[in-house]
Amino acid sequence: MEDIPKQYNPKDTEDRIFELWKSKGLFHSDSSEGGKPYCIAIPPPNVTGILHMGHALNNTIQDILIRWKRMSDFNTVWVYGTDHAGIATQNAVERDLARERLSRKDLGREKFIEKVWEWKERHGNTIKEQLQKLGCSCDWQRERFTMDEGLTRAVQEVFLRLHRKGYIYRGNYVVNWCPRCQTALSDEEVSRTDQEGKLYYIKYPIKGSDDFVIVATTRPETMLGDVAVALNPKDKRLKQLSEKVIVLPVLGRELTVVTDAFVDPQFGTGIVKVTPAHDPNDFLMGQRHNLPVVNVMHEDGVMNENAGPYKGLDRFLCRTKLLEDLDEQELLEKVERHTYALGRCYRCDTIIEPRLSLQWFVQMKPLAEPALKAVLDGKIKFHPKRWTKVYINWMENIRDWCISRQLWWGHRLPIWYCQTCRKIVVSRDRPESCPQCAGSDLNQDEDVLDTWFSSWLWPFSTLGWPDDNADLRFYYPTDALVTAQEIIFFWVAKMIMAGLEVVGDVPFRDVYIHGTVRDDSGAKMSKSLGNIIDPLEIIQEFGADALRFSIIMITAQGQDVFLSKDKFEIGRNFANKIWNASRFVLSNLDGCSRGTDFDPDSLSSDDIYILSKLGDTVTEVGADLRKYRFNDAASALYEFFWHQLCDRYIEYAKAKLFGESQEEKARTQNVLYFVLSNSLKLIHPFMPFVTEAIWELLPRDDDLPLMISAWPKPLKLSLDRDVADNVMKKYELIRAGRNLRTEYNIPPGKKVRFIIKPSEKDDNRFLIQEQDNIAQMLRASDVSVDMALASTRLAPSAITPLGTIYLCLEGEIDVEAEAARWQKQYKKANDELERVKRKLENRDFLEKAPPEVVQKEKDRLSALTAQADKIRKNLSFFQ
Ligand SMILES: [Zn+2]
Ligand SMILES: [Zn+2]
Repeated sequence: MEDIPKQYNPKDTEDRIFELWKSKGLFHSDSSEGGKPYCIAIPPPNVTGILHMGHALNNTIQDILIRWKRMSDFNTVWVYGTDHAGIATQNAVERDLARERLSRKDLGREKFIEKVWEWKERHGNTIKEQLQKLGCSCDWQRERFTMDEGLTRAVQEVFLRLHRKGYIYRGNYVVNWCPRCQTALSDEEVSRTDQEGKLYYIKYPIKGSDDFVIVATTRPETMLGDVAVALNPKDKRLKQLSEKVIVLPVLGRELTVVTDAFVDPQFGTGIVKVTPAHDPNDFLMGQRHNLPVVNVMHEDGVMNENAGPYKGLDRFLCRTKLLEDLDEQELLEKVERHTYALGRCYRCDTIIEPRLSLQWFVQMKPLAEPALKAVLDGKIKFHPKRWTKVYINWMENIRDWCISRQLWWGHRLPIWYCQTCRKIVVSRDRPESCPQCAGSDLNQDEDVLDTWFSSWLWPFSTLGWPDDNADLRFYYPTDALVTAQEIIFFWVAKMIMAGLEVVGDVPFRDVYIHGTVRDDSGAKMSKSLGNIIDPLEIIQEFGADALRFSIIMITAQGQDVFLSKDKFEIGRNFANKIWNASRFVLSNLDGCSRGTDFDPDSLSSDDIYILSKLGDTVTEVGADLRKYRFNDAASALYEFFWHQLCDRYIEYAKAKLFGESQEEKARTQNVLYFVLSNSLKLIHPFMPFVTEAIWELLPRDDDLPLMISAWPKPLKLSLDRDVADNVMKKYELIRAGRNLRTEYNIPPGKKVRFIIKPSEKDDNRFLIQEQDNIAQMLRASDVSVDMALASTRLAPSAITPLGTIYLCLEGEIDVEAEAARWQKQYKKANDELERVKRKLENRDFLEKAPPEVVQKEKDRLSALTAQADKIRKNLSFFQ
């Protein structure tokens, strides 16, 4: 086994191992093979996507679940695919075109869409390749795309069904509008950040008097679309205003006064302007009071004819001009600083404009009811539990969903308008003729569907719905959904609604919501902050296993992750530890029979100890994974492998492997083989590459890759717990003995004598049995166990749970030289102690130094005092 490299090199290993899995077809699963199904549908990354740390966390978690279940004999499938990401992809292609000084309109719809497909062919595989670098074991053969033929059919079918049921309607609504992209945006497509803006107080004259009311607004240009002013019904000013007419400055439009409980008496002056075409709340207020709607802006944010003298001005230029005019007419009362959440288009950063437009909607109430019930009934469980409440609250207050987007890239609405009689026809394909007037001049709606209209069908459309098929019957409902908290409403809730409405069953049983990846100061990672850690760079430098293990180990359930580059050393060091320990074991397996039939009576205490620790770890890791406590599972593995196996058992095993007894050697080899092979299995879902690479080197009867080996079962062996506990204590005793050696400068090669005085009779028996082993591990010439030990000369000691251990120095060392050495150390410590004492008695220092500096000196004083005491005690042995 001399050819095993000393250093583990992920770069030489990971791609090769991935190819091995791929060439053996291990990623693919087949429903016809039956068994217990386990299915996860990946949250489809955008086809424009590039792997970031959020993806790395999200997909590592899914891969852990999938690998664990695959090894646990489930028929496991992880469905992969990408989202066409309407606006993101369209913008990416438009940016490319802009470099050639072209716009999508120059190309026309058909040509432009061709370009997008070309773009997708060129760039759409990036994220897939990156997920493969991370080691994700998706069923790559099942790759889906939200605009592939099957998913498109699913989208149309669902639209038609919902329309037949009367859940789809067309209506005017104030939507988030991007004047740059010229489309409606869903709430999640708007990024809102608190921004310092201004609140303008404007005087509106009261008709027939010199008096006026004052309204406050952050967007003065929208006042051109005002149709009323409103105040709270409880407002005392109501009496004097109720009969009055208010005059809109500049335009002179007459405004009515309405009362509405929605008006917040605390905001601004408590009197608000009502602009139904440009504010979602005003729109609803307008409907409540039957107010007219005046739209003052074109789709591109330029003021229209309703804006009077400002027609043709961009909205912000109009703002400036209007404020000047108001000021001139002494109608601008004051301007205040005001912080509010300003919305921007998430794709192009343009400030969004709430705008009234004609859009298509899905009525959500009838879909939300069963979706709410499914969670209340426990058919779907959120992990951590706290998300259940958030979900319920949202579902109870759900609003209708605006599904039309004014884009070209996406699923075009299956809606046709008869140009003769204006009838609307809903149809998958172009209708031959209008069912009403038999006219043949029908035009398809120009809009496409919101991207989420395809992704909300993801769990079943990717399994072949709407066709009834074996995959769907076998794998649906899927088992777990792993996702970030930002999309719980926009995606998770919608999938639950769609699953229940369309297939008649929940889409998944467990929803695991993980936290957000932040930098170590707690800031979200973003390009503009320059604090992004690129997962591919980490894979390049530390290896994919290191990335996976580190991010899981430091992420508590559902909590945010605080990352810095050095955190990945945890995983890298662990991968190296696994490699080195395995290398040691593999090099010492010559002649190993790989027997696993352990007879408890023939096992040594240390064997029993490590086997029972392994058993505990199998149980714990299984329980943690079932509870979605990934970091606990990772910590248990780390603790077991590093501290139980490497620090303790392998140390013990060295003596046996190189000892005289062939029988002991053989037994130890079997235990090592068993523990190592099971450890590799347990660690595999977390660190698939290094474990598989070692598995290749492990002598085995079959050549099955680790990826499809059987997950360890809890040990059936009945092991004596007391023995395992005693071994734990034995290791403490050995550590104490080793510390004594170090403290008294005993060279590593020098054999010394130890005496142990057991705490109790039972310990006495155990210690006598372990005497030889303790001696080996302490490099002692002799270890004697003496229950009756009274006192011993020149023997520093340490107290441990099993007993007190004495290091016998008499005859071993030059007493005088040792005494002189301790004397010297004592003096040094004492001098330093005196110096600190004097400093702390110095009033000048105490008064002038900052409190933390004084505290530092005080801490130092107590540390030095303890040190001096210890040295004095050691010194006493030699005097
Ligand atoms: Zn935009
Ligand atoms: Zn017609």
